Amino acid sequence: MSVTRALGFGLVISAIATTVAAQQYPTKNITMLVPYAAGGPTDTVARVLAQSMAKPLGQTVIVENKPSAGGILAPEQVKNSRPDGYTILIHHIGMATTPALYRNLRFNPLTDFDYIGLINDVPMTIIAKPNFPAKNFKEFLAYIKANKDKVSYANAGIGAASHLCGMLFMSAIQTDFLTVPYKGTGPAMNDLLGGQVDFMCDQTTNTTSQIKSGKVKVYGVTSKKRVPSLPEIPTLDEQGLKGFEVGIWHALYGPKGMPKPVLDKLVASLQESLKDDSVKKRFADLGAETMPVSRATPAALQSHLKAEIDKWGPLIKKAGVYAD
Ligand code: ASP
Repeated sequence: MSVTRALGFGLVISAIATTVAAQQYPTKNITMLVPYAAGGPTDTVARVLAQSMAKPLGQTVIVENKPSAGGILAPEQVKNSRPDGYTILIHHIGMATTPALYRNLRFNPLTDFDYIGLINDVPMTIIAKPNFPAKNFKEFLAYIKANKDKVSYANAGIGAASHLCGMLFMSAIQTDFLTVPYKGTGPAMNDLLGGQVDFMCDQTTNTTSQIKSGKVKVYGVTSKKRVPSLPEIPTLDEQGLKGFEVGIWHALYGPKGMPKPVLDKLVASLQESLKDDSVKKRFADLGAETMPVSRATPAALQSHLKAEIDKWGPLIKKAGVYAD
């Protein structure tokens, strides 16, 4: 056989092997990368979902944290991994805000990924360390404005949801604070509970239990309407910050170029999970709203991501914030 024919034959064999592997997918554990530290809100959503998706997939979904400030390393790793469905990414609104914040981002959310679907919407809360000297939002505002050179704001780095919320909050009250970046709001919460930082804005998926057990002070929710699981907490809008609204959404991605049978299986498994009453209840208990199955699709995620990039990009550019 000539070298050319042998090479051609080899390519055909490997194409057949890839097709067979895609049809049999999954035959081993799947890894879901989380861009932030363990114990934080993105990690919590990932773990609920991974456990539920394991059933329809028939394989374990391992949650692996790849924390970095701003959550920018995990997407890059997923972009560079084999598009075989064994490495997937969970991420939040950061996929839409980082392109405007980083001049040298090493991934493009609009071209480097296959979209699996949307997962849920999560509101945020403004919370402070347990002994913060303010009983309500009015006192909180007065205190932080009067002590702007002393108080510190924790976030999960530029591009994190907590960064976005903090940036909008500071702009709404026209006051800047020292910000302390962490690789996730899990570790930020530990420092807040220990009193090393003063306040933060974080998802209800991380703050609900601390709020309910009275371990942190809470001054408002960032959604337009009150959160059903925390009905006694007023919105920032109703407390005077008219129009203030930040909502975080999560979604699932894979590297670009996954074979269709693999992508279809991941989409179907995500949809199964979102129909699961125990998943819906767990999210609802944490203040999150499960996306309808009709939005757990590649097309819905693609158009939502594009709309969010178009929404946040100009606002962030106007604010003139850059990470590098
Ligand atoms: N809630 C964090 C953020 O600010 C990320 C995390 O730790 O999950 O985006």
